[in-house]
Amino acid sequence: MRLLLLGGTSEARDLAARLVDDRDSGIEVTSSLAGRVAEPRLPVGRVRIGGFGGVEGLRAALAEYDAVVDATHPFALGMSANAVAACRLEDVPLLRLERPGWEPDPRWHYVDDHERASTLAASLGARPFLTVGRQELARFVSALSGHAVLARVVDRPALDLPETWTLLTSRGPYTLDGELALMRQHAIDVLVTKDSGGSYTWPKMQAAAELDVAVVVVRRPACPVGVPTVHDVEDAVAWVREQS
Ligand code: NAP
Repeated sequence: MRLLLLGGTSEARDLAARLVDDRDSGIEVTSSLAGRVAEPRLPVGRVRIGGFGGVEGLRAALAEYDAVVDATHPFALGMSANAVAACRLEDVPLLRLERPGWEPDPRWHYVDDHERASTLAASLGARPFLTVGRQELARFVSALSGHAVLARVVDRPALDLPETWTLLTSRGPYTLDGELALMRQHAIDVLVTKDSGGSYTWPKMQAAAELDVAVVVVRRPACPVGVPTVHDVEDAVAWVREQS
């Protein structure tokens, strides 16, 4: 059974590790990464890197696979939509593995998109901490050009940032002590994040609560419709085994 595992997340790496470990299962796993970050954390086993070339490119690639698990990030909408379309057209079984969102805290401010997050952050604080990823930063420049922003990203963005902004390149997982120290050092008064869920970036939410920092959370886009979905790596392992 040849499995294509669309990855770029910690769950995708966990699933690859679980399946590759089980050498007698007859399951061949190929993890796929977009190639966005300069030095990606590689999953174990076979890896391919780079886009497929839209739905048509993915359809052609599916000739080499018997099933697909889409374990991409909840905000990687384009890849998930392409997987749904290509798997339907090629009649290849598809599973969505999506980590649950964070349990909402009544103190958090939820917004539907990054534009709303930028204007709300501008009104809630003077020293925002942006943890929304490099690709979203451009959407914050106009509302926050006069604010003392701390923007944390894995790789440097291509765009020119306002002079009042500080760029911090780093990669999780983070610790509560580290997040407390960072937020204190920059006197952060509002934190902006996607509802990524999971434990890797959770300490910033704990630190914000402890320091009474306002939190703006960008709501998740809707899940792909009509696709079986699991939230747990073990359930994904069971589904993959059922396909073989
Ligand atoms: P996206 O907007 O949904 O995807 C844009 C295009 O990138 C896709 O159409 C596809 O190109 C290519 N692509 C995306 N994921 C791919 C994968 N796993 N393997 C091969 N090609 C892939 O994706 P994104 O939001 O830029 O995210 C890119 C990657 O970073 C994903 O793997 C995701 O899991 C990971 N990630 C994203 C976020 C986030 O906040 N968005 C956070 C952490 C990790 P083609 O059309 O050419 O096939």
